[in-house]
Amino acid sequence: MMSLAHLTTGAEVRAADRAHVFHSWSAQDAISPLPVAGAEGSYFWDYDGQRYLDFSSQLVFTNIGHQHPRVVAAVQEQAGRLCTIAPSFAVDVRAEAARLIAARTPGDLDKIFFTNGGTEAVEHAVRMAKIATGRPKVLAGYRSYHGATSGSIHLTGEPRRWGADTGMSGAVHFFAPYLYRSPFHAVDEAQECERALAHLAEVIAYEGPGTLAALIIEPVIGSAGVHVPPDGYLAGVRELCDRHGIVLIFDEVMVGFGRTGAWFASDHWGVAPDLLTFAKGVNSGYVPLGGVAIGERIGSVFAERPYPGGLTYSGHPLACAAAVATMSAMADEGVVENAARVGADVLGPELAALAERHPVVGEVRGMGAFWALELVRDRETREPLVPYAAAGAAAAPMGKIAAACTSRGLWPIAAGNRLHLAPPCNVADAEVKEGLAVLDEALSVGDGLI
Ligand code: PMP
Repeated sequence: MMSLAHLTTGAEVRAADRAHVFHSWSAQDAISPLPVAGAEGSYFWDYDGQRYLDFSSQLVFTNIGHQHPRVVAAVQEQAGRLCTIAPSFAVDVRAEAARLIAARTPGDLDKIFFTNGGTEAVEHAVRMAKIATGRPKVLAGYRSYHGATSGSIHLTGEPRRWGADTGMSGAVHFFAPYLYRSPFHAVDEAQECERALAHLAEVIAYEGPGTLAALIIEPVIGSAGVHVPPDGYLAGVRELCDRHGIVLIFDEVMVGFGRTGAWFASDHWGVAPDLLTFAKGVNSGYVPLGGVAIGERIGSVFAERPYPGGLTYSGHPLACAAAVATMSAMADEGVVENAARVGADVLGPELAALAERHPVVGEVRGMGAFWALELVRDRETREPLVPYAAAGAAAAPMGKIAAACTSRGLWPIAAGNRLHLAPPCNVADAEVKEGLAVLDEALSVGDGLI
């Protein structure tokens, strides 16, 4: 056993973290990260014995919960057998992970390019599309998150892009459906769908279809708000891409592998892309892994011509072992079905009931094990509880509601004026009920803030 005898209390761990760890997305002097001592199933806990019901699945990646014994054992077994080998070799566990992913992904996606996470998958998918089409630009939603490297951050439409935007990206943004705050002044889902597609068609026409390599979209939008598209939208996007020779990329990094109650979110509408990016749920994040699933249209481009790109750790054996074990456990234990059932029978109806009781809730949306509560000051005007891209004092009401959850042992995600609720896909009904009871109390705190 590795001994870290000098790091045995939460205070020691936090002090050591603050001494040398540089955290993402943060002003380094403004943060005080929670020291985590352990985790199992749907819970993690700190050094003081406080347990948290994990309705974040961390960053929406522990789809089969923490410390699943089959995945832990698979990683241990692989570490004992072959810790690492370069991507240029053929390895059983990598081949098997690719086979299982290819079997689950929609359409003709049959070849898997492995990366270490979602951002790299997006970078490579876009590169493949640009090479295949010889075109320079990429369409992406304003309400989107596609990563944070210098290329992918420009595709990301939400405010986190601003700090890094060089204004020279080749990204072109459009508005996707969002009926609650319709950019198109639509009154129902069908009208929102029709107008969103007309808007997209116009953006394509004005940009010049011959300049657009790809369109990247999250089939259910994740970080930027948990937006489930109206029926017909993804099929309409597919049709527009086909008409103009634009490569369609589904970014399923957050919503793939069971999150929405299907293996892939796009399965709900039976629409397949040319390329699909994945990460997170593929192995529940036990070892970093992501990738691009590639169909014939792009695959054939690189059959004889070399693909210019690669990564030292592409398809790392430990990560692939975790993926094989995760996908097998998900299938054997009915994890995807569980997420669908929990969404339809418990989370959906119970969150709707909470919204009835709490005036701070403007809208409930989501599916499977992936939901958002959009919080408002006034249900009539729909004024958001905190302004768009609020920071500091302006964001304080959300901080208070999040703290009302965490102090009662529930860990949700607070994002903008929303609470995102994403328990593990194998969450038990009793755990969901426990979380909902805490949420009920926290929303009462929210009601007092409006
Ligand atoms: N795409 C989507 C849809 C995501 O949700 C994320 C991460 N939240 C990414 C890409 C980037 O993935 P990673 O952080 O693993 O690089």
